[in-house]
Amino acid sequence: WAQLEAQDPEIAAAITSELNRQRTHLQLIASENLTSPAVLAAQGSVLTNKYAEGYPGKRYYGGCEFVDVAESLAIERAKELFGAEHANVQPHAGAQANMAAIFALGVQHGDTVLAMSLPHGGHLTHGSKVNFSGKWFDIAAYGVRESDQIIDMDEVRAIALERRPKLIIAGATAYPRHWDFAGFRAIADEVGAVLMVDAAHFAGLVAGGAHPSPVPHADVTTFTNHKTLRGPRGGTILSTEAHAKAVDKAVFPMMQGGPLEHVVAAKAVSFKEAMQPSFAEYAANVVANARALAAALEDHGVRIVSGGTDIHYLLADLQSLDITGADAEARCDAAGITLNKNAIPFDPRPPMVASGIRVGTAAATTVGMGTEEMGRIASFIVRVLKDEGEVDTVRKEVAELSANFPAYPEPAAQA
Ligand code: PLP
Repeated sequence: WAQLEAQDPEIAAAITSELNRQRTHLQLIASENLTSPAVLAAQGSVLTNKYAEGYPGKRYYGGCEFVDVAESLAIERAKELFGAEHANVQPHAGAQANMAAIFALGVQHGDTVLAMSLPHGGHLTHGSKVNFSGKWFDIAAYGVRESDQIIDMDEVRAIALERRPKLIIAGATAYPRHWDFAGFRAIADEVGAVLMVDAAHFAGLVAGGAHPSPVPHADVTTFTNHKTLRGPRGGTILSTEAHAKAVDKAVFPMMQGGPLEHVVAAKAVSFKEAMQPSFAEYAANVVANARALAAALEDHGVRIVSGGTDIHYLLADLQSLDITGADAEARCDAAGITLNKNAIPFDPRPPMVASGIRVGTAAATTVGMGTEEMGRIASFIVRVLKDEGEVDTVRKEVAELSANFPAYPEPAAQA
């Protein structure tokens, strides 16, 4: 670190400022977390120097014996953690994992894919017109019921019977409820489709036993390593043995070149962390905190989409507070609370404005916050959203609260 400061003070300053932001602001972005120092160490290691196209034992470069050790550990741990027959730990990110998985499943240009509609919570890679998925495939979409904002499985089945998709995708970026994985499997079997579950958000909860597992139901399960799973930024694909070869070929050489072996090693470290009993406790606490935060916001009169949450985030409908999601995000930011605006189902506003916010508890739980703190956070949010004049006071209270739950605490000063 001293070397970086001396050689490139501008970058060192940006990193220091970001560390300070993570320490002093409330981190409530649902897709973020705070990795352990061990994960950071692996990711910042000399493995970044190594080219290793191929897979352990079958590389296109010499000198791969040590990255082979790291990647084999990552693969074996991922399989054990999720009870999967096959794991590919090389995708650079969740989007790449999804792209490779879709091609591994044999979906061709022009084929029909059934996935959750974006305005109801689906991800860009599930059929957005500006993404490869929407450009290359014929997208059929399901959504949530207007009455309770829950996925209507009868509707999913009816659309599947009508559109006969080759692939069905379950999983989303903004759907705070459990998925009926068995129901999706049954529909896929009925229409002769393959089933992919995008577990990007809830993978850590599955690993910690706080969420049902999609792995026994899906042909392929993809996830990001950096959300609830608390690993490095990156993606992973799990599959049945039947799809193993196709998955590996789709990641390399079809879509990627050399894997990021430093990231792969960091994935291995985080998989090991997720196998510890403390991670099960963490995952349960993440969900308990999200539920407590949702209940506390509701007590303040804020409507929670679908009436609550089963996972690590909630979607709040701000229409009753007469503030847009975009303005709420900016105002919370000014008060030291980092969260994001989010469209709610049947949102009357465009996505860049939106009527809601998505609030996640994965990072706050990592620093040790519990349900009591969730009550305080709910009141911070509501105070600043109701009255801009509260921003300065709340910012001070946020700083006090964060100081009691420091991210990456500095070692105690030496006497
Ligand atoms: N899938 C889902 C459901 C996501 O929410 C995300 C990202 O938030 C992704 C895939 C893509 O992950 P990445 O940003 O690593 O490409």
